[in-house]
Amino acid sequence: MSENKEINENVTETPAENKEPVKKNRLENMSPVKVGRILLLVLCVLFLIGIWFHNNPVNGPVNTKDDETDSESVDGEATPEPTPLPNELIDPNSVTVLVNKNHALPADYIPASLVTPYVLSTSDVIQVNALAADQLKAMSTKASEEGINLYLTAGYISYETQDDYFNDRAGMVGEAEANKVIAKAGFSEHQTGLAFDFSDEPSGTATTVAFADTPAGQWLIAHAWEYGFIMRYPDGKEAVTGYSYQPWHYRYVGADVAKAMHEIAPDLTMEEYYSVN
Ligand code: ZN
Repeated sequence: MSENKEINENVTETPAENKEPVKKNRLENMSPVKVGRILLLVLCVLFLIGIWFHNNPVNGPVNTKDDETDSESVDGEATPEPTPLPNELIDPNSVTVLVNKNHALPADYIPASLVTPYVLSTSDVIQVNALAADQLKAMSTKASEEGINLYLTAGYISYETQDDYFNDRAGMVGEAEANKVIAKAGFSEHQTGLAFDFSDEPSGTATTVAFADTPAGQWLIAHAWEYGFIMRYPDGKEAVTGYSYQPWHYRYVGADVAKAMHEIAPDLTMEEYYSVN
């Protein structure tokens, strides 16, 4: 055993003893010129490493991470896209153009043809979209024949006038409350000339839910759809339309659509009928 151990020690020591002299010999054999060249090469490498660190600072990757974090938070706050709409709901000249809190009209949109409706009204300056004028007249005439006075209190309202209305209301009750009953400019159906407000009396006290219980309000609920009009903001549909109950506000959508909607449900909204938001 002791002999084996001595042999092992010799084996391990021998290579180290052999290498040391070789290294010493190489360095000693080098000429000063060669040593100078090696030193110059080492300096050049150190210089290039220095340049690399200058152009790639240690905090470089940290900045990149910050940028990614910012873009992620922006994505997280993005609002969902409104439903893509078919052309009959986008074209401002279509009787079924959708105007709600998600879909506005251009500020400069004016109906191609505005006319005086020649129906009972609270003002003789009210104008309406010509596309709805004949049916409005027919409905008003039929109501009169049945002893019902339908006073038109509003038809077409320009972008600028709507802007004044909204700001006046917001100044009184605050923007959040105003937003429940009155549309911001561009978001009002009245800018299409296809939306109408009614009252049962010439003084035009139309904008209360009590209108629904008047003979005029009841007559509209029963018959407006026959002429192509729908109650646009029905009771209980606030979450769908974004507006509180407005039994005085009707929208012309054409006789075919109004009939189809009425057959599904008397209080169906445009958003529900077209499955849009
Ligand atoms: Zn209205």
